[in-house]
Amino acid sequence: MLSVDEALQIVLKQAEPLPPAPTKLLDARGRVLAEPIVSDIDSPPHDKSIVDGYAVIADSLVDRDAELTVLEEVTAGACPTQSVRPGTTTRIMTGAPLPPGADAVVMVEQTRLAASGKVQILQSPVRSGQNIMRRAAAMGRGQVVLAGGQCLRAIELGLLAEVGRHQVKAVSIPSVAVIATGNELVEAAAVPATGQIRNSNGPLLVGLVEQAGGTPVNLGIARDNADDLRAKITVALSHNVVVLSGGVSAGVLDLVPQVLADLGALQVFHKVNLKPGKPLWFGTKRGASGDGQTLVFGLPGNPVSTLVCFELFVRPALQKLRGAAPTGLPRIKARLAREHQQRGDRPTYWPAQTQSAGIVTLLNWKGSGDLRTLADANCLAFFPSGERLFAAGEEIECLRLPGSDA
Ligand code: AMP
Ligand code: MG
Repeated sequence: MLSVDEALQIVLKQAEPLPPAPTKLLDARGRVLAEPIVSDIDSPPHDKSIVDGYAVIADSLVDRDAELTVLEEVTAGACPTQSVRPGTTTRIMTGAPLPPGADAVVMVEQTRLAASGKVQILQSPVRSGQNIMRRAAAMGRGQVVLAGGQCLRAIELGLLAEVGRHQVKAVSIPSVAVIATGNELVEAAAVPATGQIRNSNGPLLVGLVEQAGGTPVNLGIARDNADDLRAKITVALSHNVVVLSGGVSAGVLDLVPQVLADLGALQVFHKVNLKPGKPLWFGTKRGASGDGQTLVFGLPGNPVSTLVCFELFVRPALQKLRGAAPTGLPRIKARLAREHQQRGDRPTYWPAQTQSAGIVTLLNWKGSGDLRTLADANCLAFFPSGERLFAAGEEIECLRLPGSDA
């Protein structure tokens, strides 16, 4: 059976970054930039005041009690019309252009307006250049301000706006069809009858796809019969990625692999050596979503297995399709709060909680159907295969789950 690492490498080999497309600035957050960005301006565009105050000539302020004549008032967006000379000053607001002649700004809090209408400077000494941001100090016209390949956060959107880029070339976002399979499933709004359970995996996967930067397309529940599966999977295959839950194990109604094969999807692997999540199915379908191929993941139906398989395999694949580095979840080291007996021959991902001091507490997890305990987890603790007692305090690796603010 394939190891997790082998299976991941196989998945990533099939995942090619999607083509870049012109993207409106306000749609670009979370996308990967596909071109370098050159500034079309100097920033700031002029020597500017960074405080509200008075523009002065620093060297001319030798006499502490001197009163300066106010020439004019320059607000942000306006231009000075007069040069500052010794004995004079200009009232200036934050962001406004420095008047010619002036080389410093004194904060308004360090001045006093005399009865004469003149201004007294209380600060001493006044240094040349104080409270001024020079033209092009942040960036110059023609300068590359963002490199291609960078993921665009809100900060970069602001910078793109500053340099006039209301549209950029960015890698497309993968659209991901989600199908939950099972005769026993009813939607969340329904009250389950005998033998039924609610469809947890549909909403779980929609949320996971969003967290991983894809666009989820929820196709609902497919029943465990070839006709319904075929109809829903046919629609799903027009997307970049298909994520199915259930129907990939060894039960008599686990029909997903056969229906996928009937629809022309090529199986790349079935089963990976891990716990939970061993029945994972992965394949591809050529030409179904435009030029590229559709990646198809058949995740085991138990919700914890679904989550673990998604985070280990689907998330890195989505990262690669989006043009980002396929790093998966962040890995952290933590020390076990209590000893742990690792059993069985499969590497295990165990729902757990890390505390700030680098301690990890394994949760009392009742198995791969136990979504309730998973809700208390902020990481998956990793144990390699093999029977072994892990001592309290021993350092292990954990995969950090996205936080509630992700
Ligand atoms: P399967 O992989 O289809 O054999 O399903 C394994 C287990 O997961 C069964 O107990 C199913 O009832 C359960 N299961 C399958 N799909 C879902 C789902 N969408 N939501 C919650 N549990 C599910
Ligand atoms: Mg099933």
